[in-house]
Amino acid sequence: MNPSEVNDKDAMIATQEAQIANLEAENTKLREENETLKAALAAPERYAGLVQRVFEEEHQRTLDKLKAIRTRSEQPIKLQEVEAFQQFLCGEPEPHLELRIAPTVQPRLSQDQANSVIWYLQEVMHVLSDRWEYCEACGELYDCHRSGWVSEEDDKCYCDNHGPEDAANSEEKQ
Ligand SMILES: [Zn+2]
Repeated sequence: MNPSEVNDKDAMIATQEAQIANLEAENTKLREENETLKAALAAPERYAGLVQRVFEEEHQRTLDKLKAIRTRSEQPIKLQEVEAFQQFLCGEPEPHLELRIAPTVQPRLSQDQANSVIWYLQEVMHVLSDRWEYCEACGELYDCHRSGWVSEEDDKCYCDNHGPEDAANSEEKQ
């Protein structure tokens, strides 16, 4: 063996030793991971708890979302909002209404026509609660769960300010 051959061999051995060291390090890492896995399998409740917590948090988020949606639908559009809509349809939008529309496209319906639009949103599209009734005599909106009455004569709704005589008068008008 000449000296250069000896050097080559030494270099080769050094490379192999480095590779062995790398493999050993990798092996140690794998063994540690294996121990962690074995520990996990030996004590599943610790990990089950973690999985359970993640699941519960996700479940709670879903419930919160559903609740938010239901809360919105359980809080139907208020009487005052429908009244403001009625006024808007009649050509008197609220002064503080942020959305401005041009005077040329501002609706100017009669109160009866406005009430027909509201009726469509209630009975056909179910956008508005049908608890908001309008009085046949004065056209005012009211909450029929709290006030007002239905005439047996004409089967129409009247606010508390209008009694049976008004119902009779309104019948005569037609
Ligand atoms: Zn009335």
